[in-house]
Amino acid sequence: MQGRLLLEWRRRLEGSVADLHITIIPCLSDNYAYLLRSEGLAAVIDPPEAAPIVAALEGGRLTHILNTHHHWDHSGGNRELKEAYGAQVVGAEKDRSRIPGIDIGVSPEQGWQFGEFKVEVLEVPGHTRGAIAYVIDHAVFTGDTLFVMGCGKLFEGTPGDMVSSMAKFAALPDDTAVYCGHEYTLTNARFAQSLEPGNAALAARAAEVVALRAAFKPTVPSTIGLEKATNPFLRIHSAEIRAAIGMAHGEDAAVFAEIRRRKDIF
Ligand code: ZN
Ligand code: FE
Repeated sequence: MQGRLLLEWRRRLEGSVADLHITIIPCLSDNYAYLLRSEGLAAVIDPPEAAPIVAALEGGRLTHILNTHHHWDHSGGNRELKEAYGAQVVGAEKDRSRIPGIDIGVSPEQGWQFGEFKVEVLEVPGHTRGAIAYVIDHAVFTGDTLFVMGCGKLFEGTPGDMVSSMAKFAALPDDTAVYCGHEYTLTNARFAQSLEPGNAALAARAAEVVALRAAFKPTVPSTIGLEKATNPFLRIHSAEIRAAIGMAHGEDAAVFAEIRRRKDIF
């Protein structure tokens, strides 16, 4: 509640009067799409399927579809939603050939504009080479690159790519809300604790997410501050993690690769 008041206050300071409403839409078995609404505009981020998005719109019209990356479980709803509402599809210009129905290609240089809200585009390769994240009004939509207490598998990128991508997230303000593409948090928390049992912030957060899931509640949004304190993939300099994997003096990319390797078989 206090965080919300803070956001309201800051928005006033920055001279914006528009409100941004974010709705979490569970899709498939563990995906999250997000509906963003502001002053007659409605954008969905990463729709794997159309039906849950149509339901969340409650008769309203969809104006935009934003994709973080091309995978079907994030873009499978593009064409049906585009056809139903005439919505415009937004995705990485660099990955134009793989984003179904793309109309508007975006890049970090140009960014994008959603009504009154300036949208920052971060290039975050690693999970896929064209992966991007959208920063809108103190929230970041990370797709499958950054998860709550985890990160995506390296399908198309190197550990070095992902280290740079993680650094872009870590550079955002601590109170930035983190909305990711999947509910993988319970397993991620167990894995994180296996590497860093002495991390008190992690223990507290792990208990919190167990309670949330027991009540069938989503563990999003997290915050950048929380992720920096608990997410092993943002904590490759942690002495405890480095000791746990026997790489006290390893290069960043090598440490990251070893943590990712262990997560893949966890
Ligand atoms: Zn996915
Ligand atoms: Fe993916």
